[in-house]
Amino acid sequence: MAVDRRPLIAGNWKMNFDHLQAIAFTQKLAWTLRDANHDYATTEVAIFPPFTDLRSIQNLIEGDKFDLAYGGQDVSSHDAGAYTGEVSGSFLKALGASYVLIGHSERRQYHAETDEIVRAKVEASLRHDLIPIICVGETESDLEQFGPSAVPVAQLRAALSGIAEKDIVIAYEPVWAIGTGKAATDEQAEQVCGALRTALAEAWGMAPAESTRILYGGSVKATNIAALMRQPNIDGALVGGASLDISEFASICRFLKHVV
Ligand code: PEP
Repeated sequence: MAVDRRPLIAGNWKMNFDHLQAIAFTQKLAWTLRDANHDYATTEVAIFPPFTDLRSIQNLIEGDKFDLAYGGQDVSSHDAGAYTGEVSGSFLKALGASYVLIGHSERRQYHAETDEIVRAKVEASLRHDLIPIICVGETESDLEQFGPSAVPVAQLRAALSGIAEKDIVIAYEPVWAIGTGKAATDEQAEQVCGALRTALAEAWGMAPAESTRILYGGSVKATNIAALMRQPNIDGALVGGASLDISEFASICRFLKHVV
């Protein structure tokens, strides 16, 4: 973790919590962090609820002046029109979203999202002034066949091809670590996050590569976050399962208290 990149802990709720559950959960999370004197200026916290929760989350966060950021779990590559079921970046922006997850492995696997689609969604998010959190990561068989960083680096290059320097976040999420309880070791995660930063420097130059946050995701818990955050190229975490448990997620957000 470098001092000039504000760490980001992002909770991907996936398809969990309806809007009533989301309100109760977010309120409790914000109070838990407030009671623990969490300093959002030091570590940013963002949540990624289902689309149907976002209006309620906006009302709650704005009304109660919580410092939590939030975003969508996906975005359409189109801005408007006959695209049944899709959600435009302009709609997310109108709901006060700051971020959007793009290319999560579950989108790539279950919704056939290709590198081209991911790239188009990155462009769409930038058109609407949303910060894309671009998810990349290798499967177990990719790892055996190509080694640790080839696939994530290729996915990142494809996602950014033809796109000029912008404010983005990258999330390295090895598919074999997502939801399995088997996180990458801090050395493994650091190796790939370092390779992603090098690829970004090749695309955009050193300064943007140095200022861009790279998150690790895959079975992050309160017990492994500190070691991950000690790595120089890891600037935060994308958290799935553990983001649904208030005390576990709050403890991950407060990793600075247990980084020694
Ligand atoms: C994820 O789905 O982005 C994720 C990292 O999940 P988990 O933390 O449950 O492995």
